[in-house]
Amino acid sequence: MNNLKPCSHTKRWLPLLVKGRLHGIVLWYLRMHVKRCNNCTEAIEALRAAEECIAAAQQASRNGPGELSSDRMATLEDLFREGQPNDAQ
Ligand SMILES: [Zn+2]
Repeated sequence: MNNLKPCSHTKRWLPLLVKGRLHGIVLWYLRMHVKRCNNCTEAIEALRAAEECIAAAQQASRNGPGELSSDRMATLEDLFREGQPNDAQ
């Protein structure tokens, strides 16, 4: 990953901007700043990617094992029957 270096005066606000929790003049200021600042733009993109990963992980954990495809379920059942889980890592 690149070395992300958002500006010191915007750093604490960027996560809130990504989460849509800013309003009014702070929101306006940050949007204006990010448009012109490559460092903050990169930081925002990284934060958005991280948010998407977290959301996907939360979704997967909500769905639980019911989300496994039938192929994977069959493989798991085979492994349980054999009593020898695949050790390959
Ligand atoms: Zn900046």
